[in-house]
Amino acid sequence: MEKSIPELYGSLVFSDKIMREKLPKDMYKALKKTIDNGTHLELDVANAVAVAMKEWAIENGATHFTHWFQPLTGLTAEKHDSFICPVDNGEVIMDFSGKELVKGEPDASSFPSGGLRATFEARGYTAWDPTSPAFIKDGTLYIPTAFCSYSGEALDSKTPLLRSMEALSTQAVKILKLLGKEDVTGVATTVGPEQEYFLIDKEDYAKRKDLIFTGRTLLGAMAPKGQEMEDHYFGNLRPRVSAYMHDLDEELWKLGIPAKTKHNEVAPCQHELAPVFDTTNVAVDHNQLTMEVMKKVAEKHGYVCLLHEKPFAGINGSGKHNNWSMSTNSGENLLNPGKTPGENTQFLLFLSAVIKAVDDYADLMRLSVASAGNDHRLGANEAPPAIISIFLGDELTSVIEAIEKDEYFGKAEKVLMETGASVLPHFAKDTTDRNRTSPFAFTGNKFEFRSLGSSASVATPNIVLNTAVAEELSLFYEELKDVAPEAMDDAVHALVKKTITEHKRVIFNGNGYTDEWIEEAKKRGLYNLKSTPDVLPSFIAKKNVELFTKHHIYSEAEINSRYEIKLENYTKTLHIETLTLQDMVYKQFAPALLAYIDDLTDSALAKKELGIKAATATTEKMIEKLSGYYEQVIGATEKLAADTKKAEAMADALEQAKFYHDTVMADMEEVRSYADAAEPFIPDGYLPYPTYEDMLFYV
Ligand code: ADP
Ligand code: MG
Repeated sequence: MEKSIPELYGSLVFSDKIMREKLPKDMYKALKKTIDNGTHLELDVANAVAVAMKEWAIENGATHFTHWFQPLTGLTAEKHDSFICPVDNGEVIMDFSGKELVKGEPDASSFPSGGLRATFEARGYTAWDPTSPAFIKDGTLYIPTAFCSYSGEALDSKTPLLRSMEALSTQAVKILKLLGKEDVTGVATTVGPEQEYFLIDKEDYAKRKDLIFTGRTLLGAMAPKGQEMEDHYFGNLRPRVSAYMHDLDEELWKLGIPAKTKHNEVAPCQHELAPVFDTTNVAVDHNQLTMEVMKKVAEKHGYVCLLHEKPFAGINGSGKHNNWSMSTNSGENLLNPGKTPGENTQFLLFLSAVIKAVDDYADLMRLSVASAGNDHRLGANEAPPAIISIFLGDELTSVIEAIEKDEYFGKAEKVLMETGASVLPHFAKDTTDRNRTSPFAFTGNKFEFRSLGSSASVATPNIVLNTAVAEELSLFYEELKDVAPEAMDDAVHALVKKTITEHKRVIFNGNGYTDEWIEEAKKRGLYNLKSTPDVLPSFIAKKNVELFTKHHIYSEAEINSRYEIKLENYTKTLHIETLTLQDMVYKQFAPALLAYIDDLTDSALAKKELGIKAATATTEKMIEKLSGYYEQVIGATEKLAADTKKAEAMADALEQAKFYHDTVMADMEEVRSYADAAEPFIPDGYLPYPTYEDMLFYV
């Protein structure tokens, strides 16, 4: 019999319920304490958990276990060990100890470390993260772990994320104590990431070298139809896509990932999935898993799932919306404005901290979403601009304006929705409308950071957000710590007023896609860091190094290593793209174009021989035109090849990245412009790979 959804949900997760069932009571309590309060875990507890975990995993068909971690490739990594342990007389037992649970040593010397680790001291350790549940996938027990070097430097994205969550918790708890909330001992940040993706046919994918090597198309003219009819967004799901999504939901549910909404997106073949939010650390792990499962399930349905930020030119690319808030361990959402935000001192204080954090560290926020892929989206009228600003909506804007002017702002009138049709139910309108053009929007009781790329881990943006807000809270604490309780309300009010006055420049409720905003932002002195090479140096800017080291998120060495890896990653990505484009032009596009020109020439010659005048001139004209394109494509590709050679020879990593951006990428666009201009004249059957039309409209 099929399992019901509640039975299916989390069936492959070593959940709290299973732990309670399987662990001795005192061990369970000790483990819970570690998970809830972040206290250190003793080895006897680890041993008990290991026994229970092994038993449960074997009962559920697992033969192997792996420490699952997130090295600085942005992907996840795993090395599988079987549970078997040979004993005397040629037999084996299934073994797994607390030591193996807590610590792994995967060697793993080939991951990028940005110079943090010389290969001669290549020891890398993985350490169990008990706050993210273990799970079973493909017959293997997956244990979420952090990954660090022999000397304790983080070689992954989980370690700094956990550090940033702890920093925010520490600072938020201190503030809450000042405000009289004695019962709160921990504050967790929460995240719900909405994930966009494309589905295309497996056979189409297999014929496109650009998709295989770079994840995006480097050539390809738009089909006669794009997304202009807006008929795909929220459109009804085709049966094959629907079957895929259904399967995907089930696989995710088994892993305890609360996949909740799914719909078609703006571009043809583009879709979105959103889970219910969770603690940031778990949400990050789940998002990594979601991306993996999306790809795996796609394969089963004859699709390939594209997670690149810009797989196709001329239609929207894909991003992620990072919904973020802070929640106390007594269950209160600190960004919930309540019915009267104007009187909600606690809310206003935390809101001000976020506003100040985003203004002070806008460069880091932009940095946290920077990648070669995402550069194609930000500022291209499909995703927020590269300028980081905050959308607050009408009600909150009125509230903070009132505070600034020392006026009283009580309660926003609830406005009833008037549809004009009396059979429809009446309901109150939300006080914040949607603004899709803002990079950082307040949406009722959380902020939505919308600049993230679709393929990257959501860890870094959350590390930056958590740390920046922790910093502002720590400054607020310094201002408020000596205030007497009876004077606290006024002191907070004054602090909120001062913060808003100093940082309101970052608030913008208008259309972020317009040129006027770019001008206005410049006047306000906001950053507009357009490309990855533009923004990367902010990682090592003094104020940002101070921020990270003060809160022990990254050491200076860890920052430098990450800066190096990001630069290298950018350069390598563009290097692969230029080589792939050259390869496709010389081996596929140009020969196809030439073959058609030759066929036309043969036909023109044959007609001439037979003395047929009609259409010969027209054919000759076409030959002329296509030969012109051929020359342009080849000429531009030769320039691209020469500039690529120049780029390869450059010694300074930042200069090199800039050259790739300014010169090599411009060359690539030039090549593409000629090829795409010629493509509509090439009949079906000449190009050895599928066109945009083939890929986007027949799935
Ligand atoms: P949309 O932006 O498409 O309208 P929704 O309003 O449905 O999407 O929610 C988007 C995401 O925000 C969901 O993943 C939801 O779980 C998440 N979310 C809701 N409340 C919070 C919160 N307090 N903290 C973090 N994420 C949240
Ligand atoms: Mg959204």
